[in-house]
Amino acid sequence: MQTLKFAVLPGDGIGPEVMEVALDVLKKAVETEGIDLDFETADVGGVAIDNQGSALPESTISVCEAADAILFGSVGGPKWESLPPAEQPERAALLPLRKRFKLFANLRPGLLYKELTDASPLKSERIPDGIDLVCVRELTGGIYFGPKETKDLEDGDVEASDTMVYKRSEIERILDVAIASAKTRQGKICSVDKANVLNTSVLWRKTATEYIAAKAPEIELSHMYVDNAAMQMARDPNQFDVLVTENMFGDILSDEMGIVCGSLGMLSSASLGLENNQHGHPFGLYEPSGGTAPDIAGQGIANPCAQILSAALMLRYSFGLASLAEKIENAVKQAVMDGNRTGDIAFGQTSIGTRQMAESIIERL
Ligand code: NAD
Repeated sequence: MQTLKFAVLPGDGIGPEVMEVALDVLKKAVETEGIDLDFETADVGGVAIDNQGSALPESTISVCEAADAILFGSVGGPKWESLPPAEQPERAALLPLRKRFKLFANLRPGLLYKELTDASPLKSERIPDGIDLVCVRELTGGIYFGPKETKDLEDGDVEASDTMVYKRSEIERILDVAIASAKTRQGKICSVDKANVLNTSVLWRKTATEYIAAKAPEIELSHMYVDNAAMQMARDPNQFDVLVTENMFGDILSDEMGIVCGSLGMLSSASLGLENNQHGHPFGLYEPSGGTAPDIAGQGIANPCAQILSAALMLRYSFGLASLAEKIENAVKQAVMDGNRTGDIAFGQTSIGTRQMAESIIERL
């Protein structure tokens, strides 16, 4: 019997609602596979502030440290918005978790089934078969983490600066994630940079060219400037298979990809760590791309698919169970194709609640 040990951090708002049913889907998926789930639940975000005085209590960190992966819900909400920025649930929980577990790679599937093309702001004729790409974003380097300064100048003016810094090794390790992803897909990588202006991008482009040629010559590599990539994402997202880019460009492009793909309720994500777990796979944090949806929290109507698909990513990346992940992904797709819809993806059709949506997926497993 194989045991999967992971931490469950449901968080706030719709987090606990979608987490509960995602765990039911996971239990069903592993039922006949000789796999045992060993998970421990802990407070994070606003609920942790209320219960324990901190968005990421030591006890929660300990639960995560004892695990091989973290299945995360989402954190934050109006109740905690008046706290100082550094104490806000998202910043005080997610950033330290990224740092503690050296989560250097963010991987977001941009997936829109063709049955849901109405959810996209793009015209359906531009995406007749839906959308399918992956965005791989470097998460611990670049301008967000480089030296920054704000200083008063002698002439009375004020000057602020942020510095973008990348080492070749940091670029190579994110390229490894993109290569691994491309190998399971169409084998195409588009590396996004601003090499006409930035030194870091010149290094990025050179490293991508040399590293991929040496390590995975079968991959079809292209390069694109980030301003063009933003336009192309809105024009024809399916021209991309795997996008790989630095932290800030990836922050913006992956959010654009999210809106182009329609409902946040369908979008999962994985943040992979530098260190391997006891299964020999990267430790990772898996979470929906959306937030706590305070407007619908507590009503049992949130779409659980993003949380369920995040659990599937956990099986694939942190436990090496790709076929089991695919089984869950196919069940979600089939449930949607068969017309099961929560309100966010109903478009005038009858909608069902969180629990019923999960049941429709469980039936198809
Ligand atoms: P949001 O993603 O929570 O909601 C935006 C819209 O999408 C809302 O209309 C919401 O109902 C809808 N939506 C999101 N997920 C859905 C789902 N699963 N099913 C159906 N509809 C869904 O973004 P927001 O309103 O900007 O933020 C709300 C709170 O969430 C804020 O406190 C914010 O800080 C927090 N947040 C947390 C995370 C995180 O934990 N990683 C990410 C983003 C926002």
